[in-house]
Formats: sequence, C-alpha cells, structure tokens
Amino acid sequence: MSAEATDVIVVGGGLSGSAIAYTLAGKGAKVTVLEQGPWVESEDIPIDQPDWEFAITREWSFDPNVRDLPQDYPVVNDGYTPWMFNAVGGSTNHYGGFWHRLKPVDFRKGTEHGLEGTRDWPISYEDLAPYYDRADEAMGISGLPGDPAYPARSSTRLPPLRHARYYDLTAGALDRLGWHWWPADNAIISEDYNGRQGCNLCGYCDAGCPRHALSTGAHGFATEAARRGAEFITGARVTRIKTDAQGRADGVEYVDIADGSGHELEAPVVVLAANGVGSPRMLLLSTDSAHPDGLGNSHDQVGRYLHTHGYALADIWLEESTQHFKGPLGAAIYSQEFYDTDPDRGAVNGITLTFCASFGPGLISLGGITGQSAAPWGAAHHEAFENAFDHYLFCAVQAEDLPRPHNRVTLDTERRDGSGLAAPHVTYRLHENDRRLLEFGLDRVREVAGEMGARQIDVQTLDDAYSPPGWHPMGTCRMGEDPERSVTDPWHRVWDTPGLLVCDMSSFVTGGAGNPAASVAAMALRCADKLAADMGAGEHPEASPVAA
Ligand SMILES: Cc1cc2nc3c(=O)[nH]c(=O)nc-3n(C[C@H](O)[C@H](O)[C@H](O)COP(=O)(O)OP(=O)(O)OC[C@H]3O[C@@H](n4cnc5c(N)ncnc54)[C@H](O)[C@@H]3O)c2cc1C
Repeated sequence: MSAEATDVIVVGGGLSGSAIAYTLAGKGAKVTVLEQGPWVESEDIPIDQPDWEFAITREWSFDPNVRDLPQDYPVVNDGYTPWMFNAVGGSTNHYGGFWHRLKPVDFRKGTEHGLEGTRDWPISYEDLAPYYDRADEAMGISGLPGDPAYPARSSTRLPPLRHARYYDLTAGALDRLGWHWWPADNAIISEDYNGRQGCNLCGYCDAGCPRHALSTGAHGFATEAARRGAEFITGARVTRIKTDAQGRADGVEYVDIADGSGHELEAPVVVLAANGVGSPRMLLLSTDSAHPDGLGNSHDQVGRYLHTHGYALADIWLEESTQHFKGPLGAAIYSQEFYDTDPDRGAVNGITLTFCASFGPGLISLGGITGQSAAPWGAAHHEAFENAFDHYLFCAVQAEDLPRPHNRVTLDTERRDGSGLAAPHVTYRLHENDRRLLEFGLDRVREVAGEMGARQIDVQTLDDAYSPPGWHPMGTCRMGEDPERSVTDPWHRVWDTPGLLVCDMSSFVTGGAGNPAASVAAMALRCADKLAADMGAGEHPEASPVAA
C-alpha cells in the first residue's frame, strides 16, 4: 500500500460530495474525492435504445441489487429497499429533478409533536436559505416564482418547463376544489445554462439525460469542482476510515475496484458523503480501539432514525387526452393543501400531492405505476392500449415519515460486497401514523380524480406487504445539539471523532413532505463553507461568485 496525502478527503462523489468539493476547491483547498463509480457519459444513458422504458428494470435500475455492477454494493432489505446510483453525481444521475426546499416548520417537528424519535433540527430554515439560493444557481433550476406555500427566495430561476395537457386538467380540478397548487420547481434547465443544453422535453429523465439538461450533482457541481482543481478518483471504494492513536480521523483505506489493489490516502479532514445507507455503513465498518462499535457510535446512534417518504401511488385514467408522454416527470403540478399537521386527521405531519406523467407506451401497456390495469395479451390488446394511451396521469401522495430508532441501517452478518465488506442491512417498519397519512392522501386523490371526471382510478394497496419506494433514505447519521442523541454537531462534525464529518442525506433530522435533494445540496454548501473557514482556506482566484 502506498500512502499519499491531501488536505480534505471526500468519500463519495454524489450530490453532497460534489457540492463539498466544488466549494472547497473554489477556496483553494486541495480536495480529493473518492468515488466507487465512474463518471457517467452521455452514451451510457439508455434513452435512445428501442426498449428505453425498461432500462430502469435492468442495468439502469434504481435498485443496486438488480444492477449488481462492480461499483454497487448489495443491500439486505428487511422492509425497505433503498434505491441509489453509484457514480459521480450519485443518485441524482437518474432522479426526477423535483427540487423542493424544506420549510421553516419542517425544522421544528420535535417541538410541534415530538412523536417517536422526532426532534428539532439544530439549524433553522434561515440558516440554510442562503445556501439553497447558491445551490439553485449552481445547479440550474427552472420554476415559477411566487408559490405561497414557501417563503420568498432571492435566487433567480429559469422559466418553468413547458407542461403537457394533464397539467391543465389537474389545475382546473384543484381550482374547483379550492386547493393550493403550483408547478414544481425542477432541477432541469428549461434554457441553455452554464454551457449545458436546455431541456428538449423528451421525458423519462429518471433514466438519465444525455443532453445534460437534468441538473445532476455531476453537472451542477462535480464538473466545475474538477475544473477548479478537485481530484476525483473514480472506481475507488473506501473500505475504512483511519484514525490515529488519539482517535482522530487521519485518512482512509480504499480499493481500486478494477484491479483489487489496496491504497491509503492521508488527510487531516475526512468528509463522509456516501448517502443515507453508505455513510452509516462506513462508520460501522471503521472500528478502532477507541471506537469498538464504529466511529460516531459511542451512543449507539449510527444508522438509527432511518426515515424516508411514504409514497402511495394512484393511476388516473381520463376520457380526455392527457399527453402523458410529453415532457419530464418533474414538470409536474403539486398541491400542498395538506402539508401541515392537522390533528383532526388522526396523524401528525402532512403530505404533498404530486400529479405527474412522463410514461411511454410500454409502461402504459403494463398498467401504469400500480400495474392494475394492464392491457391484456391477445386480440383485445390494441383496443385496450388505444383507450389507455394518452388518457393517463398518476398521482404520488408523498408523506412525511417519522424518524424512528428501530428503523435503521446495521451491518449484515452474511452478505458482502465485491471487496469483501459487510453489506448494509436495512430494517424498516411503517408507523401507523404514516399509514394514516397515506390513506388520507389517497382519499384526497380520489376527490381530485372525481373532480376531473376520471373514468377510473387504480390505487396502490397499503396492506402489510406495503413498503415505501426507496428514493429517499434519510436520517441515519442525524445532526443535533446533543451528543447522546445524534451523530454529528450542527456543522456535521462527528461528535466522538475529531477530523471526521458526515454531510449527506443521512444528516437529516426530519424529512418534510418534499423531495430532499435541494436540502442535501444546501447543507453540503453550508458545511463546506464552514470547513473552509476553519481551515483558513482563501478564495480561489478562479472561483465564481456562487462559491463564495
Ligand atoms: C430513482 C431516484 C429518484 C430520485 N428523485 C429525486 C427527485 O426527483 N428529487 C429529489 O430531491 N431527490 C430525488 N432523489 C434523491 C436524491 O437523488 C438524493 O437526495 C441525493 O442524491 C442524495 O445525495 P447524497 O450525496 O446523500 O447521496 P448520493 O447522491 O447517493 O451519493 C453518494 C455517493 O457515495 C458513493 N459511495 C458510497 N459508498 C462509497 C464508498 N465506500 N467509497 C466510495 N464511494 C462511495 C456512491 O457511489 C454515490 O455516488 C431520487 C433518488 C433516486 C434513487
């Protein structure tokens, strides 16, 4: 093994890791990002294959257990299958590009109800607000200013993406019901931006975007971070965070996935940005005599409080043309009429109703998102397909999920990845509160579908076999004020391991009822700003004002 040195090691070149490297490199620090996956090239993206709709069930699957590529690690699923993508840009390589902020109320759920493990965030919306703005500008966000459901913001947005007909039909129904609605903000550029081509509305963005109109962590941060001098070592799987005799983090060990060779890299600061599953896994794998149960785990907090977003899905079939095949999934319309806690619902927290489309002919034949109205094989197929295609939209009820201590990531005692490391074991059970929220949401979807004059609505069953989709595993290394109830302090510094930070989706304390990526990016920019100041890093001469 050869040991080399740098100023800061970032473990994981996903959304948060790239944002951290972008800021630190912009301030002149020597940053090395170790990412187990590759850079994704345009030609890797399967959108121009004849069976493009089904690539997400194979090599471009959301589920690492299905992809099973050399850079993936297996995840043992006990009640929840976390989805992710392992490459520069991380899971944003195939995300929907929904770009929600948390709201002021989301940072105070401990005070509001404190149910199960719920605590207040140690920071406020106002602490993150300037970083949300910077993230918007670096990434390139399209949207319509003025949503009354959110505080005003100063970042400029590109014009909203053009929307398909289903959007107007939904807006009409929501207007008649008198409910809030707004076009979703998107991490998809509606016009050319920072050298990238604007969206051509071809749709199906969660299979990736060969034009780079989808604002991923790679296009928003990593490319610019590399231009500013950050080094990205790809195909590099970190196997352990090293500590010195005083228990201080001083580097990492990693393997080159291509040839299996082992390496060491030293640095006075290590930032873990490996997501809500990868970061607790890495802490638990990194034991030493001062940390026999893993780094950050002196109070048995690592891996706990896993929360996600309960999603209940419904297919809505209309007589009218909906144009569901036009444009991005993310160019959706949402209602936050029921976002805040209302005790009359019999459950705390709230929901977002998002009405979307972006489905092609294959998935329509298979019956949409619930699969309940698949076109039959044989003679009746064409007629059924004609009736379904262009008459469809779906609604996702997105519910805030309670962070519970027993929902957690641990190390599996049997499964190992390709480098011989223990696989993460993910245990998750849906709380009755969260089930009630989803049922409440589905009743609201039925109301909207009724108002639209839908001829049919197929609703996902929330029986005991229900498990939420794995888009957003959050909270497993949560930040806090109390070392006994959290893994890091409010600046992402691991309580019991000097020199080590964790900043990614695992840092969430609660998740709100909106998608997390905007908050992941904002937290990462805030963390890196403070880290740079603590390191005494100066401004990089080539840094853009966005990095300051
Ligand atoms: C299918 C899908 C759709 C989504 N849609 C949306 C959406 O529309 N809007 C939204 O807000 N959010 C969405 N998300 C969530 C969003 O992608 C995440 O919030 C975001 O990517 C989290 O950033 P992160 O940095 O925490 O983790 P990631 O982006 O997942 O990055 C973690 C990186 O760490 C690397 N890594 C892990 N372990 C190691 C190791 N040992 N050594 C080296 N590298 C390692 C991984 O390879 C990965 O690249 C979606 C997620 C999925 C899976």
